Amino acid sequence: MMNEIRPRVTLVGAGPGDPELITLKGILALNKADVVLYDALIDTSLLNHAPDKALRIYVGKRNGSKKNPQEETNRMCVYYAKKFGHVVRLKGGDPFVFGRGAEEMDYIQEFGIKVDVVPGISSTVAVPAAAGIPVTKRGVSESYWVITGTTSNGELSRDLLLASKSKATVVLLMGTRKLREIVRIYEEQGFSDKAIAIIERGTTREEKIVAGTIANIEKKAHEDQVGAPAIIIIGDVVRESPKLKAIYEAVVFENKLN
Ligand code: SAH
Repeated sequence: MMNEIRPRVTLVGAGPGDPELITLKGILALNKADVVLYDALIDTSLLNHAPDKALRIYVGKRNGSKKNPQEETNRMCVYYAKKFGHVVRLKGGDPFVFGRGAEEMDYIQEFGIKVDVVPGISSTVAVPAAAGIPVTKRGVSESYWVITGTTSNGELSRDLLLASKSKATVVLLMGTRKLREIVRIYEEQGFSDKAIAIIERGTTREEKIVAGTIANIEKKAHEDQVGAPAIIIIGDVVRESPKLKAIYEAVVFENKLN
């Protein structure tokens, strides 16, 4: 008898960017892949963990394409699992943090196909950490709030207004194009001095960081041309980073001179 195809899908979190920041379980899943469907933002060296004969298929947004390929990706998971067996769906960060992993899982399970999930190191924590910013710190911040800058209808989440009134560290994803709106929310509440950092492609060789305050971040972001994909971190913890401390000390110094 020929080898029977046993369709199954593993949603694997690839981590924040640095290819060493995937989990061991993620690598073991890749070792056993018949097909890998991978996103944009995935370091392609991770594909080396799949067997040579495995198919490697890019399912990220196509250049210039405005069409949302999510439905197509869902269908591809099912199609390839039925045809080849084990599909590893490799997704940036953690599959369930703004990654539409839950939608993919629901869709695939409707076809009676088994889905396993391998959690990943989310950029929401790892990108600040790699820049020396602790999302919580005793005496500085006792909670952190992860918010999307682009909800399903394209708008900044209204949760930001609530979060900005709290002492929580705020981590915003997909928010660089909404920087003006974000700044305005803090300014309207008199928080112009609040520390804010924008980190583009954190944990990778192309990492770019700008840091400042609500009052000057728009100018700095423009000057340094920092853009998507990036994470925005707002709160006192930004001042705690050894890498960024000097920026804030310099501000205090300037103020003393004036
Ligand atoms: N599931 C992912 C997030 C997917 S949403 C996770 O857990 O990390 C994609 C958004 O995440 C990007 O638009 C950007 O805001 C953020 N992001 C992901 N990787 C990043 C990185 N290395 N540096 C900066 N931002 C990143």
